[in-house]
Amino acid sequence: MGKVDVLGVDFDNKNFKQFQNEFIGRINTHQSTLVVTANPEIVMSANENPEFMKILQSDADYITPDGIGIIKAACILNTPLPERVTGYDLFVWFMKLANERSLRVYLIGAKPNVIHAVQTKIAHEYSDIQLVGAEDGYFKEDLETVAYQIEHAEPDLVFAALGSPKQEQLLSILRKNLFPALMMGVGGSFDVFSGKIKRAPQIWQKAHLEWLYRLLKEPARLSRVSILPKFMIKVCQTKRKRSKR
Ligand code: UDP
Repeated sequence: MGKVDVLGVDFDNKNFKQFQNEFIGRINTHQSTLVVTANPEIVMSANENPEFMKILQSDADYITPDGIGIIKAACILNTPLPERVTGYDLFVWFMKLANERSLRVYLIGAKPNVIHAVQTKIAHEYSDIQLVGAEDGYFKEDLETVAYQIEHAEPDLVFAALGSPKQEQLLSILRKNLFPALMMGVGGSFDVFSGKIKRAPQIWQKAHLEWLYRLLKEPARLSRVSILPKFMIKVCQTKRKRSKR
């Protein structure tokens, strides 16, 4: 099965390595590519926002399962997905690839001090990357104008860390224009990559408790995490409906 439907969002049934190979192929051929890394919060938000759902269903070329909640949901629906493929892990891998190949990279998102720290890190540790744009995510211009600025810089890779759905809305403009880059929304990845926020240690990640670690570090996320039980209830209802068919 190529795709796995979780509450109307079609996830690609691929492991990390398979995604990497697909992305390398698309970068090599300069195909316009929109990658969405979706967690339960994104799936729930798309279920309430038809415009966002349309971006996921019509504009996204790949949707990866970013979060253990999606993996569990796919299991409950008897259509298991191989593994979690997070935006952060992909972003770090893309940075290594961009450095090896001297690719042109455009970054947009996060607070000004964070994007500066990311710029500094790239200059020191990924010095072969051609950083053709590094803008914070608190711009006043509309998304069309920002998309135009990105196109003008002619990047091979574009990463937007604006939170969802804003980052996907921006990138979908570029995707609709068939802009020949690989583009991905990366949520809070710049905060972690810059070192301003610590990612959960491996042991928490392996125990599938990364969400709890983030909640303890940022208690303001409680209202966002509380979406998880609602997501699981909806998944169980879908399973019941499907088994009646
Ligand atoms: N952000 C931004 N512009 C905005 C709103 C948010 O650049 O108008 C940034 C914010 O600073 C943070 C990221 O978007 O770096 C969103 O992170 P969040 O924790 O929401 O993403 P997650 O990792 O949960 O998807």
